[in-house]
Amino acid sequence: MRYEGPIYRPPSEADSLLVQATVGCPHNKCSFCMTYKKGPPFRVRPVSEILEDLTEARRELGPGVHTLFFPAGDSLAMPTEELAQICAEAHKLFPHMERITVYAGVKSILKHGAEGLRRLKAAGLMRLHVGLESGHDPTLLRVKKGVTSAQQIQAGRMALEAGLELSLYVMLGLAGPDESQAHAKATAEVVNAINQAGALTLRLRTLLPKINTLLLHQINKGRFTLCTPQQTLAEAGAIIAALTGPLSLHSDHYTNHLNLAGRIPQDRDRLMGQIEAAGRLPRDAFRADFVGTQ
Ligand code: SF4
Repeated sequence: MRYEGPIYRPPSEADSLLVQATVGCPHNKCSFCMTYKKGPPFRVRPVSEILEDLTEARRELGPGVHTLFFPAGDSLAMPTEELAQICAEAHKLFPHMERITVYAGVKSILKHGAEGLRRLKAAGLMRLHVGLESGHDPTLLRVKKGVTSAQQIQAGRMALEAGLELSLYVMLGLAGPDESQAHAKATAEVVNAINQAGALTLRLRTLLPKINTLLLHQINKGRFTLCTPQQTLAEAGAIIAALTGPLSLHSDHYTNHLNLAGRIPQDRDRLMGQIEAAGRLPRDAFRADFVGTQ
């Protein structure tokens, strides 16, 4: 098995076979992200190489693989037919396959279009992990996400309407204290608008200023202020209060100040109670800020 550059996968893909279909990130500009800033540059691997790796995995692991994740920043940036081909071949090699998933950029979803997404679903792609981060346009612009809230809504709906599962990632604290509530309100509005096209999963993350990022430089220059844990929790509460659902919510990540899991709307009151209780804890009950230490 050959891997190139950093290999990341969502916690929910911890048991999945990882086969690289693309390298790097085609956007690579987000101010909070260090993952591919030092390379390698984005490229799509030749289908022949990807098939060789899948075949090697079949030889070494046998037919019993149930889940497959294609790691790298945005493997949906592959041409539709090439991604469809490797999905279809993976299902042939692993007849018990239950789930094939990728990280997907909003622009890549839109590039495939409704027809391309249906083609990928038919070939056996099942779930897209999409980093929304925020639905607040001034924040999206400031962190150089490269998309607008309108594009997020269009892409999210298109994916759900094509029958794909959607895991959306939102980053708490990304707007700082002054814009925290605006970020929460706009993000919930985007998630609700996408959610009209079908059920989805929402995963919360909390901003950690990482080394080699523009955002860390802005913090060090006094141009961006981090939210306190209590402000971040209030932000999570504002998002959860405004969600319509139906959706599953998880905060299964080490960056978060509080682990939350439940369904909206039925678990909303319990989740809000957990947030209120955590909000009364002192600062030293939460993790350190880890500014530039990772
Ligand atoms: S957050 Fe995602 S889209 Fe943005 S630079 Fe990092 S890998 Fe690329």
